[in-house]
Amino acid sequence: AQLSRDVAELVTRRQRSFGQASVLFYEEPLHVVAGIGTELITIDGTPYLDLYNNVPSVGHCHPRVVSAVRAQVGRLNIHSRYLFDVVHDYAEQLLATFPAPLTNVLFTCTGSESNDLALRLARLVTGGLGVVVTKTAYHGNTTAVTEVSPSSYKKGAPPAHVRTVPPPHRAYYGDDIAGGFARAVGAAITAMANDGIRFAALLVDSIFSSDGVFADPPGFLAEAAALVRAKGGLLIADEVQPGFGRTGAGHWGFARHGVVPDIVTMGKPMGNGMPIGGVVTRPDLLADFAESFGYFNTFGGNPVASAAALAVLNVIKDEDLIGNANRVGNHMMASLRDLSARHPAIGEVRGAGLYVGVDIVNRGTGRPDPAETTRLINRLRERHILIGAAGPFGATLKIRPPLCLSVGEVDRFIDALDDSAAA
Ligand code: PMP
Repeated sequence: AQLSRDVAELVTRRQRSFGQASVLFYEEPLHVVAGIGTELITIDGTPYLDLYNNVPSVGHCHPRVVSAVRAQVGRLNIHSRYLFDVVHDYAEQLLATFPAPLTNVLFTCTGSESNDLALRLARLVTGGLGVVVTKTAYHGNTTAVTEVSPSSYKKGAPPAHVRTVPPPHRAYYGDDIAGGFARAVGAAITAMANDGIRFAALLVDSIFSSDGVFADPPGFLAEAAALVRAKGGLLIADEVQPGFGRTGAGHWGFARHGVVPDIVTMGKPMGNGMPIGGVVTRPDLLADFAESFGYFNTFGGNPVASAAALAVLNVIKDEDLIGNANRVGNHMMASLRDLSARHPAIGEVRGAGLYVGVDIVNRGTGRPDPAETTRLINRLRERHILIGAAGPFGATLKIRPPLCLSVGEVDRFIDALDDSAAA
């Protein structure tokens, strides 16, 4: 496609500065200049319905987050080794959303840092090194966290202390997803033990987003969690994707499964775009860690990031965004299933709340169809709607809009997908 002059120029500048490793979306990348609610505005003034971005989860540039940040940045912003109020106002409200005994939090700046710290904690406490993750998991970008992110490897594979299991789906485990998943985790732990590697943790994104979105049946994680404990390991729930109300069932994805993790990690939506992440865990685990290390993170939970995050929690509550995610998400999934019945390329619809995955399959063979997925994503972009792809083949539409999405906006998307799939 012929790029507009403005886009072509920015792409050139980007490649010149960033080199080849940086990642950009779309055949014709989007040059965005503003965001409001569920919309992103491009340089030519076109509004795009944003069904992709879960970072601005209470809505792009939500006025309450903007004013909290503005007020705080004009008053005080400093590293985290002095006393100030806002981080504690936030910590207490955040911890109030967690079940006992998860009563402590450490603040970071990203999901990657959170998972990196979680691995350090789990390895120190268990004395193990081995981690089990799903086959197409992504948990972040540090050296240690890249090792537990099989989806990051274009070549080669994670090291021997990282073992993978298929994601929780009928295709791999039949009807007993809970039992099958737990047995796969058990087999991975045994295999690493046979290679002399001691087990430390099962690390899962509780909505299995990069694997292709696997939410059902609720409760399927419980059996694996029990097994992990029996084997002396810890359960780390990566809530970077499902956390902060996205699943429409409470604040945390793990809660849908009736499990209480040993460590919970979070990031992305936490500050609606301000960099803040966190690790929530039990005091006894942190006590062990404190004997060997302290934790200092210069920017983690700084006053401005904390002010943003506090506003986010309050907006989630005051605007009933968890209820909205549930209602609007159910409407979206029901509408997508109707489409699936009419379009052979639209396969299984999975999800919880406003985290939805839709398999795109070849009309003839029923196999995953990455080319058709890419075609649909680009057709939707032409209709000014933004979504993405996930899964091992990039053949699952990934839909995770700001939580303030309306039923009318879902209907607009469904009409556009209906047209795009027919075309
Ligand atoms: N965990 C999961 C499940 C993620 O999706 C991501 C980011 N896509 C991360 C961790 C890493 O977060 P960050 O990019 O903030 O380091």
